[in-house]
Amino acid sequence: KVLLEVHGLCASVNSVEILKDLDFTVRSGEVHAIMGQNGSGKSTFAKVLAGHPAYEVTGGSVLFEGQNLLALKPEERARAGFFLAFQYPIEVPGVINSQFLRLTYNTHQKQRGKEELDPLEFDDFVRERMGLLEMNPEFLDRSVNEGFSGGEKKRNEILQMALLEPRLAVLDETDSGLDIDALRIVAHGVNQLTTQDNAIVMVTHYQRLLNYIVPDYVHVMDGGRIIKTGGKALALELEARGYEWVSDEHKTTA
Ligand code: ADP
Ligand code: MG
Ligand code: MG
Repeated sequence: KVLLEVHGLCASVNSVEILKDLDFTVRSGEVHAIMGQNGSGKSTFAKVLAGHPAYEVTGGSVLFEGQNLLALKPEERARAGFFLAFQYPIEVPGVINSQFLRLTYNTHQKQRGKEELDPLEFDDFVRERMGLLEMNPEFLDRSVNEGFSGGEKKRNEILQMALLEPRLAVLDETDSGLDIDALRIVAHGVNQLTTQDNAIVMVTHYQRLLNYIVPDYVHVMDGGRIIKTGGKALALELEARGYEWVSDEHKTTA
């Protein structure tokens, strides 16, 4: 079943066109990796899907389960089952992570007309999910605004994903400086959370991550479009040969 269908997507930021005629399709049960050199437009694509206000869509279409995703506000996208990976409180003095996560979870439940959990019920639920991800429960007591490292943010993101159980999650790893533990948590989480009914898109330039996650498809992004798609072997080939040959190959065949 097709979950996400992107056709000829064009988008700009500060009047500069970044995404240029991008096509991309995701079906349920699939894990996709989007790779590419710095500046190829990977994060821009993730942000456009999430509905980041700084990015202007100038052409093309995005259907999510047949619905026009681009017409939805970011919170409506979340309600429809699309996971937004950039929901961090900028400044929430004194809020500990368990409270933040419960607030996030209950807000989501309320928006979908589902049952909210009280602190004790939530505590059981979140610990069960953390067990699944092999995360240390001490993480719940951390203060949200007291400088989560890049790796800790990623862990929290995976935990949010495990709580919200989205239909489609897009995870942009590019700028997070993942240490080996965070890498394992992210990979383990993705592997645990993927079912036949959902799908995950990993945006990464770490080939290393793909030693832990076996993607069904690997895409290479260049100049704001996807120029090559392959299986997991493509990630290994990119690791061995870099990205240049893909652009060259694309230029000669285009
Ligand atoms: P990637 O994630 O693949 O490294 P990005 O999507 O972050 O690439 O960036 C793609 C291009 O868009 C780069 O050339 C970058 O400089 C430009 N860009 C991204 N965000 C902005 C912005 N807010 N203002 C101006 N240019 C931007
Ligand atoms: Mg990008
Ligand atoms: Mg990026």
